[in-house]
Amino acid sequence: MTRLGFSDTIAAIATAPGHAGVGIVRVSGPGALRVADGLFRGRGQPSRTRGGRFLYGEFVAEGAERLDDGLCLVFRGPHSYTGEDVAEFQTHGSPAVLSRLLARALDLGARPARPGEFTLRAYLAGRLDLAQAEAVLDLVNAGTDTARRQAALGLSGALGDRVDRIAAGLTRTLAAIQAMLDYPEEGVPEEERGVPLAQAEADLVALVATARAGQVATRGARLALIGRPNAGKSSLLNALLGYERSIVTPIPGTTRDYLEAQLSLAGVPVTLVDTAGLRETADEVEAAGVRQAVSLAQGADLVLALEDGSLPRESLPVDLPPGTRVIRVRTKADLSAAWEDAGARAVSAVTGAGLPELREAIHAALLGDAARGEAWLTTERQADAARRALAHVQAARTLPDDLAGYELEEALRALAELTGRDVSEDVVDAVFRNFCVGK
Ligand code: GDP
Ligand code: ZN
Repeated sequence: MTRLGFSDTIAAIATAPGHAGVGIVRVSGPGALRVADGLFRGRGQPSRTRGGRFLYGEFVAEGAERLDDGLCLVFRGPHSYTGEDVAEFQTHGSPAVLSRLLARALDLGARPARPGEFTLRAYLAGRLDLAQAEAVLDLVNAGTDTARRQAALGLSGALGDRVDRIAAGLTRTLAAIQAMLDYPEEGVPEEERGVPLAQAEADLVALVATARAGQVATRGARLALIGRPNAGKSSLLNALLGYERSIVTPIPGTTRDYLEAQLSLAGVPVTLVDTAGLRETADEVEAAGVRQAVSLAQGADLVLALEDGSLPRESLPVDLPPGTRVIRVRTKADLSAAWEDAGARAVSAVTGAGLPELREAIHAALLGDAARGEAWLTTERQADAARRALAHVQAARTLPDDLAGYELEEALRALAELTGRDVSEDVVDAVFRNFCVGK
């Protein structure tokens, strides 16, 4: 890979602020080993050490004042995270030691690293694509196991590979179209245009659909329970939670406000919202609750629409906005069923019957295909680029060859933006602004 040859050397404390067992100062750039030579005294001299080695010794400030003892790790470019010479100093995790050590590194010619600058250098050196760099950030910020798994997949380059496969197909079709432009009367054969473009469209639709899952995995999902009073909302919420969180009473209309509860569904953080019962009502307070329930359902990632299975069926008294994702639930399955509907899942909050299947259905509805171990889009930037690529491919499918070629070029540009092979400096800056210093 080409070295871009930054002339400056950057330094930062790479570990989190506060006291810890170990703390790390990281230095990268052409002067990194000179900095290491200046502040480390050990058996070997950092600049004379082979890459991938660590030396034990002590860290010294100006005037040979001993700061601490610890390890000096030496990586030689291009075999390092940034692709440059890198030295890492591991000391006791004391803010007092680390700040002196960083100050000494700056005295010796390094400058303070900006947020994400080590990863930026790795990206600019071609060691990571932009989606991988974003995955580094996702991994640092991962608060759930699903988010961690997804970030690790992204870091492995799986997203870039998935995008590259789509781009390769588009490139072949574009080449076929361009080759044919000189012989317009012939037209591009279906198997070189229609068939691969239909495939690319399907792949992009699947890719775009993962954006929701990515956000759900990182930020969690909101799930609203709706249904008429007494349908069993509070009981189901408690059953899903496994403890009494809502007040369950046999008097209809008890839950006039709403209650929230947190649970984890196979590593996805889910906020359950128990809404006021939905029904046409004269009671003003309750009417307000119903309006609130409808708006909560609109803001939810998924709605569980509950209907009492022990009573004759009535339709839900509200119309959910089109596009709302709904799982229909027939409650009180332990009682004799007053109706059946293959589209509604039978559950009993009393016996627990149907609950594992319901959890499973919720998980699948939130994560969709993406639950199957494929790389997802995890940032809005990626999702936007993928949606633009999809729109261009869809346009290309309907247009004559010359115009289709233009649309395919645009689609390829959008995909190159997604992986960061073709992005403006502003976009790159925006990505790295979210990083912490030292990463
Ligand atoms: P909500 O108004 O929709 O929140 O309904 P609740 O959860 O408060 O339940 C209303 C009534 O139905 C209560 O008397 C519950 O004990 C009863 N109930 C709820 N779920 C079940 C169930 O699965 N089986 C049976 N037999 N009764 C239930
Ligand atoms: Zn309730």
